[in-house]
Amino acid sequence: MKDAKTRVAIIGGGPAGLMLSHILGVNGIANVVLERQSMAYVASRIRAGVLEYGTAELLKEYGLADRMLREGKAKNGALIVWENRPDFFIDLKKWTGKQMWAWGQTNIQEDLHDMLTASGAKMVHEADEVALRDVTGNPSVTYVKDGIQHRLSCDFICGCDGFHGPSRQAIPRDVRREFERVYPFGWLGILVERPPLENFTYAYHSDGMAMAAQRNPMLSRYYVQAPITDRIEDWSDDRFWEALLRRFPNDLASQVQTGPSIEKSMAPLRSFVSEPLRWGKLFLAGDAGHIVPPTGAKGLNLAFSDVFYLSRALCTHYLEGSDHYLDCYSEMALRRIWASENISWRLTKMLHIFPDDDPFDQRMRESDYDLLLGSEAAQKALAYEYLGLPFED
Ligand SMILES: Cc1cc2nc3c(=O)[nH]c(=O)nc-3n(C[C@H](O)[C@H](O)[C@H](O)COP(=O)(O)OP(=O)(O)OC[C@H]3O[C@@H](n4cnc5c(N)ncnc54)[C@H](O)[C@@H]3O)c2cc1C
Repeated sequence: MKDAKTRVAIIGGGPAGLMLSHILGVNGIANVVLERQSMAYVASRIRAGVLEYGTAELLKEYGLADRMLREGKAKNGALIVWENRPDFFIDLKKWTGKQMWAWGQTNIQEDLHDMLTASGAKMVHEADEVALRDVTGNPSVTYVKDGIQHRLSCDFICGCDGFHGPSRQAIPRDVRREFERVYPFGWLGILVERPPLENFTYAYHSDGMAMAAQRNPMLSRYYVQAPITDRIEDWSDDRFWEALLRRFPNDLASQVQTGPSIEKSMAPLRSFVSEPLRWGKLFLAGDAGHIVPPTGAKGLNLAFSDVFYLSRALCTHYLEGSDHYLDCYSEMALRRIWASENISWRLTKMLHIFPDDDPFDQRMRESDYDLLLGSEAAQKALAYEYLGLPFED
């Protein structure tokens, strides 16, 4: 067994883990990231592409926004189009005076990795059998690398290991409260090397939702709602484009530049929160503690807001000797998480067709949309939630 020591052991090298490592490193706090996969595998995952205002500001503050400012696109809002009803624009600029950014998680992951490598940060990729030990006493993490057993002793463990990682399971079952909604459909997504539509666009249609997103001026991401039981092989590119274009109004459909997909995947939709986010010296951040359906694009943004709260708590502990923010981390992060769960759940209900909906459900959905069309108060509230709530002091 090889022994080592650090202040903060971070499990998971996704965006939450790497961002936390970067912020701690900038503040001189020793940490080690343990990631199960290779760097190439992590970097190739195609995921989020919509950044809330607060996420973009955090990237700017920590020197990670140069490429976003150069190659990404600032967005004033998002468009909702609805079969046989007027379009609606979530006007962030008008109601909040702020903007979001179209910028891919893959790019952020690359920039974080480059930055950490340049600063000599400690990242262990392909760490097997990662296990958390004595999280309420003298914590450590054990793992196997290249067949050799390691033990990393630490002051704190940060579980940034996503929904399937081991960190959440280290909180005893009788302490954890889990809240969950699993949706009976998924988002079938493709990536295509064609210029995107001007706006992020959500389309409500009686066949199911469709969505247009963007990664860069020559890379578009499109989604259609599909039964979760469908397989990728069931969806040829032709079938995908036919479904997408039918769900968009003619004027928008005619602007979509179709082409061969360079990636195709099915994302299941789930709302999930595990409380509390702290147990002893263990703290959960990002998808390790919660999942949102992609409607509203909150997942990556929540991972970053958790990291904001957790890095502030750890910096205050080490640099100012105060545990105030460590003690209120779970409560504070959860307030924002539940707000994002709420808007993601409402948008999911409003924009998708549920297999067991009855006419009453349909009228409710239409009434939600009509309220948006007719009420400035509702428009302002949605803009505020879509932009992302501010971080708490
Ligand atoms: C198809 C898709 C589209 C999405 N679109 C959006 C969007 O538009 N906007 C948005 O905000 N969000 C979106 N999301 C959600 C977003 O990608 C996630 O919320 C985000 O990746 C969470 O980051 P994380 O670091 O918490 O978790 P992850 O990215 O899951 O990273 C966790 C890391 O932990 C590692 N790990 C797991 N187990 C272990 C172990 N035993 N030992 C060591 N390491 C381990 C994993 O390999 C992984 O690298 C999307 C997700 C998907 C799947």
